Amino acid sequence: MIQLTERQEKIIEIVKNNEPITSDAIAQNLKLTRATLRPDLTILTMFGVLDARPKVGYFYCGKSSLNFFSDRIRNIKVSEIKSVPVVVQEETTVYDAIVTMFLEDIGTIFVLSDGYLSGVVSRKDFLKSAIGGVDINKMPVGVIMTRMPNIVITTSGESVFRAAIKIIEHQVDSLPVVEEINNDGDIRYKVIGRFSKTNITRLFVDLGKTDLE
Ligand code: ADP
Repeated sequence: MIQLTERQEKIIEIVKNNEPITSDAIAQNLKLTRATLRPDLTILTMFGVLDARPKVGYFYCGKSSLNFFSDRIRNIKVSEIKSVPVVVQEETTVYDAIVTMFLEDIGTIFVLSDGYLSGVVSRKDFLKSAIGGVDINKMPVGVIMTRMPNIVITTSGESVFRAAIKIIEHQVDSLPVVEEINNDGDIRYKVIGRFSKTNITRLFVDLGKTDLE
């Protein structure tokens, strides 16, 4: 929810009752200067509460803060908040992949074969292989990973909302952000990013901060 200041609430009331109204007129009504009002008007316009039309003035759009939040998460694309992917090759040993996981401080590694996405390996997969007693120095990561076509993917153009739904529905921590390559009907995926619960949490915090400013 947007936490509006008392002055912002007053501006909304003035615009509601007098629309279209210029910023000059709003300022006069509140006995303030236009410069003082400018940040409030910017925030209200940005949140979609008010609409500003050049040479006409401000209109009330009637958007609630809830609408603002859902609009934002539907409009922000995965490409805007994705992270750099961490990848290993299928032949990489489980031991080396675990070292990569620690060095990169990451919970999921994407696995490539011939440069294309072939699997995903996560903490639980490593734990499973450890309690299964495999020789982690010899076992390639390709044997313990979750393999294509069972990988849940996202693309740069997908909304963060849709991608977040995939994370919840499939109960995973992250999705590879991919670019589809179609070689005469043979569809493969290049890994161009990583979209994880951390990205979503960061966005959540950023949207919360905007509300406080
Ligand atoms: P963790 O092992 O840290 O709990 P996840 O919950 O993401 O991490 O992984 C659980 C299982 O799901 C693992 O077997 C992993 O290989 C698999 N997995 C992880 N991400 C994906 C994905 N995007 N698509 C399909 N399977 C995945």
